[in-house]
Amino acid sequence: MFYSEDIIEQVRTENDIVEVIGDYVKLQKKGSSYFGLCPFHNEKSPSFSVSPNKQMYYCFGCGEGGNVISFLMKYENYTFIEAMEVLANRAGVELPKMEYSKEQRREKDLKTKIIEINTEAAKYFHYLLKSDRGKLAYNYLMGRQLSDEIIVKFGLGYSDKYSNNLYMYLKKKGYNDNELRETGLFTYDEKRGVTDKFWNRVMFPIMDANNRVIAFGGRVMGDAKPKYLNSPETKVFDKSRNLYGLNVARSSRKDYFLICEGYMDVISLHQAGFNNAVAALGTAFTQRHATLIKRYVKEVVLTFDSDEAGIKAALRAIPYLRDAGLAIKVLNMKPYKDPDEFIKALGRDAYEERIKNATNFFIFQVEQEQKKYNLNDPQEKTAFHKQVAEMLLEFKDEIERDNYLDSVCS
Ligand SMILES: [Zn+2]
Repeated sequence: MFYSEDIIEQVRTENDIVEVIGDYVKLQKKGSSYFGLCPFHNEKSPSFSVSPNKQMYYCFGCGEGGNVISFLMKYENYTFIEAMEVLANRAGVELPKMEYSKEQRREKDLKTKIIEINTEAAKYFHYLLKSDRGKLAYNYLMGRQLSDEIIVKFGLGYSDKYSNNLYMYLKKKGYNDNELRETGLFTYDEKRGVTDKFWNRVMFPIMDANNRVIAFGGRVMGDAKPKYLNSPETKVFDKSRNLYGLNVARSSRKDYFLICEGYMDVISLHQAGFNNAVAALGTAFTQRHATLIKRYVKEVVLTFDSDEAGIKAALRAIPYLRDAGLAIKVLNMKPYKDPDEFIKALGRDAYEERIKNATNFFIFQVEQEQKKYNLNDPQEKTAFHKQVAEMLLEFKDEIERDNYLDSVCS
């Protein structure tokens, strides 16, 4: 059974395609259409068009096109049913109860099952952390000065030293291998049998925006490698569509997000009262992350590590955040390395002060560029000025460009 043509039509017409796509792509009006950078292929100048009259989108670069429903299916990787549910909900249209086909039911059940198993695993890891077996991990977290309250809030846990401890636990709970295999929590090997992916690690459950446990990150106790390990991507976990801490940050009622580098940064910022901190999950920052953030706030403050790697990560993230239309500032944590160290040394008020004094992203970019030149040498100085002029051209808006020109000249 499927939705009737009437209800599909109603959902389609009550969701303006420009508004919906505008949440994902920065659009600019040109004539009767809107244009932006295509989210389905890489491009520098906008060939992705959205027509309010036809309520359709089309990319002149890659040929992708369709209506508001197919856009969401393509962009969010939704099934038709999921896209209908999201759009109906958005427009306040009530959908009739419908029967799922066998295949749809299986897919939906599987996603629900993975989340259920993840939730069980998270509870088990948390129990272990508080038990004798988790002492080492618990002491590690105490050493990092985390409170019991914040440990509970983020559902932190511990995965045991035995290589199939979680597997045995979940088997006893009645889950079968077909289900367990889909969670990404286990390695199935012909010779060694089934083993847990995570062992002897502090466990960080990764929640989606709706507080559902979709994956895990783990930090090893001791010297084993890798130091940090994440769940692989599964039917419910896509790294580029989620941010650690977003489930809390989205309801922080602040009009900006703090973007930091890792789990521990997010947690210590939240503990210090900055509950609008988020981080990308074991992956570089992407356009999708920027778009996701744009759904909740208009401004971000980058608080990446102040070492070389952190500066590089910030410089890489900035263009994505700009493309999403976010205002961007960069926080200076010197002489400390990361938010955790900074707050431990100088306290939350000093950090708050640094947020207030955060540098505009362009000034930050220019400062970083400047380090590459010896400004006492006239030739190098000229090269530097040319480079800055080049960077200024990135501003398409003339007034904005002039303002930035003023600010770097002063
Ligand atoms: Zn395209």
